Amino acid sequence: MDIKKLSVSLHDCQRCQLSAGRTQVVFGTGNPHASIMFVGEAPGFYEDRQGEPFVGAAGKLLTELLQSIGLERSDIYIANVIKCRPPNNRDPLPDEIDTCKPFLLQQIALIQPKLVCTLGNFATQTLLERKVGITKVRGQVIQLEHFVVFPLLHPAAALHQGNLRVPLKEDFQKLKTVLEEMSKTPTLPNASSPPTLSTSQVPSRETPADPPTQMNLF
Ligand code: URA
Repeated sequence: MDIKKLSVSLHDCQRCQLSAGRTQVVFGTGNPHASIMFVGEAPGFYEDRQGEPFVGAAGKLLTELLQSIGLERSDIYIANVIKCRPPNNRDPLPDEIDTCKPFLLQQIALIQPKLVCTLGNFATQTLLERKVGITKVRGQVIQLEHFVVFPLLHPAAALHQGNLRVPLKEDFQKLKTVLEEMSKTPTLPNASSPPTLSTSQVPSRETPADPPTQMNLF
């Protein structure tokens, strides 16, 4: 399986009720060999129309934040936890997340990023597999078995709540430092061999389990 085949295999997905209201499946986009991946929540209106994640106002802000640390969209891969637009942009339901999560995990297993930036509560909780508020874990480097998670506030939240813009910008500056440190450290602790996973496997556990560790990257 490669990323293109996975995308094609989901083209006509009918596994959950969201298929009824979507224009198209929004699989993900960007560099399939990227070492940094961003994971959002679910497609919104424009993403559903265009078939690409983060093409609306939140996407514009994300592009600016990436550029502020010297990254282009083509340097990264972006996907969402949920591949189809929820009606009226409502929050994804637990069964929708359960249904779609294996495909996010498969994307991660195929792309093999070193770092996964989770945007907002849904992506963060989905990958960390625990109910933790984004404001509590944002800007932390959390080592999972096969990759590092770096939770960030969701750009859409910063558009709605102006007071979140500064912390979001600060966390991107921290991300820049983390990336610089990671590039000097080719092999991360516990990040030994790349994962080869089936969709039913859970790829990653925090090591050590709970609470998350702040890696000594600074
Ligand atoms: N656009 C996306 O693709 N995902 C989000 O989470 C928000 C906007």
